[in-house]
Amino acid sequence: MSDIQGRGGPGGGRRRPPPQTVEVVRVERVTPRLVSVHLGGGDLSRFRDAAPTAHIKLFLPAPGQDAPVLPTVTPEGGRVWPEGAARPTVRTYTPRAYDPATGTLEVQFVLHGEGPASAWAERAVPGATLALGGPGGRFGADLDAPRWWIAGDESALPAVATLLDALPWAASARVHLEVDGPDDEIPLSSRADLTVSWHHRRSPDAFGEELYDAAASATITGGTQAWVACEASAMRRIRRRLLDGGVPRESLVTRGYWRLGVADHPDHDHGED
Ligand SMILES: Cc1cc2nc3c(=O)[nH]c(=O)nc-3n(C[C@H](O)[C@H](O)[C@H](O)COP(=O)(O)OP(=O)(O)OC[C@H]3O[C@@H](n4cnc5c(N)ncnc54)[C@H](O)[C@@H]3O)c2cc1C
Repeated sequence: MSDIQGRGGPGGGRRRPPPQTVEVVRVERVTPRLVSVHLGGGDLSRFRDAAPTAHIKLFLPAPGQDAPVLPTVTPEGGRVWPEGAARPTVRTYTPRAYDPATGTLEVQFVLHGEGPASAWAERAVPGATLALGGPGGRFGADLDAPRWWIAGDESALPAVATLLDALPWAASARVHLEVDGPDDEIPLSSRADLTVSWHHRRSPDAFGEELYDAAASATITGGTQAWVACEASAMRRIRRRLLDGGVPRESLVTRGYWRLGVADHPDHDHGED
């Protein structure tokens, strides 16, 4: 899979492909707080081979604009923004699924109540214009691992689903998912032998506490690959607990997908600080 920062050009310098303008072709409410937006209108065929848990950058129109203002890319790979125009909101999401029959890409948004991307998704209608860059992101785990321990919150549901899609039939996966309540649960499937536990948040702001408890009480045997993505502070507590519990660093992938009280949390928070 390519990196959003992609390597290329003379001397192997970093070159970032320009974002591509696309439009909303279909919107579905999956749960009261999760909306699927199907994007089309561009050449999205590179998403056919997106790695599990890959990410994209979405460029959403600034207030008052119908389409995002985009930079031009110089031959050296630099970006030049048009003067005077408000820049788009840029946020990180997961390419959930590419449909080769329609050439469309599904992206699932958590409607978490505040934030421009959440608000955009809540209003999204067919014909709405945005742009996207990617896919990017290093997967970082061994897909041939025989056993998996997976934990995530709502923001990670799309990524967990791509991971479950990619696991081989010979694998087994123990999956812990933390959501607000029973209405937020979605069907998940895999060729692997799957055991899924849905945890309901004990209070509205107790992000990741159920996942921490699941980590604290887990027996994770050698050869198990652990993958965790959720709120950044919770991810760090879970990471520490798993390391203290004997999970080798090289068998652990942790990602902070958002941070409580922080807008536009960076997409490369691996909790390794
Ligand atoms: C690699 C990667 C893949 C991701 N994939 C997805 C995906 O497929 N679907 C998805 O919905 N999200 C995904 N996220 C998370 C998403 O990027 C963040 O939730 C992002 O902050 C949303 O932008 P926003 O404009 O709505 O909110 P922001 O402007 O970034 O934040 C505004 C406020 O909302 C809070 N907030 C942000 N996200 C949440 C949340 N999920 N729950 C509660 N409060 C929140 C922040 O703490 C902040 O106080 C992914 C993140 C990464 C790094």
